[in-house]
Amino acid sequence: MHVVPSICAFCGVGCGIGLRVQNDRVVGVEPQPGHPISQGQLCSKGWATSFAIEPANRLTEPLVKEHGRFRRASWDEALGRVAEALAIALDEAGPQGVGVISCARACNEDNYAAQKFARAVLGSHNIDHCARICHSPSVAGLAMTLGSGAMTNGIADIDEAELIMVIGADVSENHAMIGARMLRAQARGATLIVVDPRKTRLARLADIHLQLRLGSNIALLNGLLQIILANGWENHAFLAARCEDIQPLRRHLAGLSPERTSALTGIAVADLERVAYLFSHARTAFTAYGMGITQFQSGTNNVIAVSNLALACGQVGRPGTGINPLRGQNNVQGACDMGCLPNVYPGYQDAADAAVQAKFAAAWGRPAPEHPGLTSLGMTRAALDGELRALMIMGEEPVLTDPDQGHVARALTALDFLVVVELSLTETAKLADVVLPAASFAEKHGTFTNCERRVQRVRQAVQAPGMARCDWQILGELAARMGYPGMAWGDAEAVFEEMAGLTPIYSAMSYAALEQSYGLQWPCDAEHPQGSPLLHERGFPRGRARLLPVSQVEPDECPDADYPFALTTHRLHFHYGGGSMTRQSPLLERGTPAALLFMNPSDAVRLGLEEQQPVAVRSRRGSLETRVHLTDDVPPGVLAMPYHFREAPCNRLTNGAQDPLSKMPELKACAVAVQALSIGSSGGVHASL
Ligand code: SF4
Repeated sequence: MHVVPSICAFCGVGCGIGLRVQNDRVVGVEPQPGHPISQGQLCSKGWATSFAIEPANRLTEPLVKEHGRFRRASWDEALGRVAEALAIALDEAGPQGVGVISCARACNEDNYAAQKFARAVLGSHNIDHCARICHSPSVAGLAMTLGSGAMTNGIADIDEAELIMVIGADVSENHAMIGARMLRAQARGATLIVVDPRKTRLARLADIHLQLRLGSNIALLNGLLQIILANGWENHAFLAARCEDIQPLRRHLAGLSPERTSALTGIAVADLERVAYLFSHARTAFTAYGMGITQFQSGTNNVIAVSNLALACGQVGRPGTGINPLRGQNNVQGACDMGCLPNVYPGYQDAADAAVQAKFAAAWGRPAPEHPGLTSLGMTRAALDGELRALMIMGEEPVLTDPDQGHVARALTALDFLVVVELSLTETAKLADVVLPAASFAEKHGTFTNCERRVQRVRQAVQAPGMARCDWQILGELAARMGYPGMAWGDAEAVFEEMAGLTPIYSAMSYAALEQSYGLQWPCDAEHPQGSPLLHERGFPRGRARLLPVSQVEPDECPDADYPFALTTHRLHFHYGGGSMTRQSPLLERGTPAALLFMNPSDAVRLGLEEQQPVAVRSRRGSLETRVHLTDDVPPGVLAMPYHFREAPCNRLTNGAQDPLSKMPELKACAVAVQALSIGSSGGVHASL
């Protein structure tokens, strides 16, 4: 047995793992000793990595659908079908009629290839990925206030924080090694504040838990800032030296009072005043937030409100501080960096900028696409309208993870042609015309970029099962079949070198440089050849930071007589995404019963429900059956469901209402009704009201 150093392929923390290899099989995993993030530890998901890539559960051959059933095919036949179908869609509908959804789990090299394929081969900016439904408001909001949408500080900064504020993030469940680091910081004396409508595990352990009303983030953040400004607790020197005029925001907040904020959020005035004092007086305050901030129709404004609070108190640009969006998937930061977004080329170079277009046109030998691109949800809508004809989905599971599942499935079946590149036959892949088997991260060389902008190497440890191939290889061959030879890379390093040559924030990176340490944090360029653990030390990318007035926006759907509960969605420690990787592990599967509706016991008494009783849950978009779990994790009137389970896919219920700027759907709040079910004598489930 030998051990190949790699990076955990689950969440965006980017822990260092060693793949234990025996007879060309990954038989186990161990933590990388000395790794700066994981520090010789892993969470349950990391330890279960080998199950996620188990060859027995994988696609090993291309599949083509005929008369509604899949049959095995050769690569030649499958790629021929894909190339022909894409060519027909291009002929009939033009570049706007085709699109690519890339993968936040795949390597940077695969994602670079995906956006190049969309732009240079298909001639379309229709390229997007699941960042749309996790942190697109961070990219949009922080670009407006700071000029850059990534974590401003590193994970190690938690060790230097005097105060840690976690807003809308279930860190010990979803970013377990960051949660553990926060608890260690608390144990050495840091103050831990959690802002969340649910009593998460971290909230129960925190010094202060602000259990705000679901969806009242801006009211709370504005209210804290109003108290700070009213008491003169803001950082005057930082504001004068580093920020644009705060007066418009000061005037915007002047009409608020702690009592008004308390009424809007449900938080006691004394708690508001205590947190405002602690945050503004902390020598170093590290702010982390997650999808409890971003997944609202006010997602971008929520992010701006977080930014306003940190900037006003000067809690940015120093070790132990910062505005830190915690990214969900292992390489969602990298997929964004690679330009798998419709409005930017790699390195966030503006797709609408003529000079940027000319640069990539010259490098790739193809003109820039003429039309602005569609987001992933825009592509779903265009498919339903008959405007998008053909779509390639790489490694994503929109049928389970996007809002309003019925709408997504209808859109995918309305396409003339769907090709899915995947490890296994997911719910989305089942709808495809062609399915192509992909190599997992343990079967190829490449890089992942974690949530703190650290680019790290993954290495081929074993052969891919059967005929599975790297995504960049599949896309390169498809490009050649479609008449474009510019993606015929010899290996993953050649893809990385081409990308780094065109991407200023990665320009000083190479595989050799990444090997020398535990990766490098961007920007890594001639000025910062050793990378940049800390951003905005001396200035912001946009010059002075902006504090922008924003107002509370209620969720699109609030409870009413027909749908009396507010439903929010969340994740569980033992599972990840649509469960296609974690549900392969019997250990992880044993850790959580499939699909539950979390309900406050007082609501259960009112409805006459008992623990584990079957219920039907319905919203204006659909319904499902599951079982209730009674817990005071959720307050009365609020229900919560994890989204990992195809048996009870909560995104059948969620609302597609979108943030106007980032197009983020409001996954965190919708209105639902609950109906008790009973098990009949035949074993069937019946509604009993
Ligand atoms: Fe993997 Fe994330 Fe767990 Fe680290 S915290 S072991 S990256 S799932």
